[in-house]
Amino acid sequence: MIFRSLSIAAVIMLMLIAVSCKKVKINHDVLEKIPVTEVSEKDGQLFLHGKTASAILFQNSSRVESGGIQIILPEEILRSNEGVWHLPRRAGYLNVLFEPHDLGVKTIVIDPGHGGKDPGAVSVTQKAREKDLNLDLALKLGTELQKRGFNILYTRDDDSTVALGSRGGKFEADLFISIHHNASKNVSASGAETYCLLSDDAADNRKITASLQVACEVQKAQSQATGNYGRGVKFASFRVLKDAKCPAILFETGFVTNPDEEKRCVSNTFRQIMAESLAQGIARAVSPSAR
Ligand SMILES: [Zn+2]
Repeated sequence: MIFRSLSIAAVIMLMLIAVSCKKVKINHDVLEKIPVTEVSEKDGQLFLHGKTASAILFQNSSRVESGGIQIILPEEILRSNEGVWHLPRRAGYLNVLFEPHDLGVKTIVIDPGHGGKDPGAVSVTQKAREKDLNLDLALKLGTELQKRGFNILYTRDDDSTVALGSRGGKFEADLFISIHHNASKNVSASGAETYCLLSDDAADNRKITASLQVACEVQKAQSQATGNYGRGVKFASFRVLKDAKCPAILFETGFVTNPDEEKRCVSNTFRQIMAESLAQGIARAVSPSAR
């Protein structure tokens, strides 16, 4: 009897060792770009661990979680029936989470969305115009960034009309940030989101990865300051992001079509808190060695 239970214990032990040693199968060409020290998987989640960061990639979705925020990749993360993970090509962008670079940013262009003849979205009860909220938040952000030693340029610093085509490429700079407020027919839609350029052109890769580095810190900082988890970092082929010759992000503060979020967005105090958090996120992102 003792021998029998011992042999059962040995078999269970061997099974446990086999499970823990099971190697995660993954298409390596993408993973080679990401400096991870350990890879594991459990229940449809792929865990990438690095020296200073980690990320969870969710099977059959575009979702990645890292550092308390989510990143929505432009393509799905797949796992075959044979258990092989197929990471999309753009998963290579995630490198910046594990190995952020000093971006050498001195001059930042701030682009308050809309303006003049173009009011942008209009808030649901107070009828506040997006162009005014964008301008105020942008000016507050500029002040906060100047305090941190950056040179600031604005695509507009008053209520003037600026054509979409003359925003992104207007100035030579090291970083471009477009400020917006969101709107949706769905009144319950809520939360901030930050966009990076979606592009098929390999020549844009460096610009996009640097943008992602900034977008993640911005999203993280706003979440910490406002307590709002947010909708995450996303990718889109917005004109201003395409036109900018430097790393560029577009920040959607919150939904002015959601009554609760409208209250926050029209509050001067909230915009000041938001501006400070964005400035903090940007400063942290561009000089990771100083973190
Ligand atoms: Zn807008």
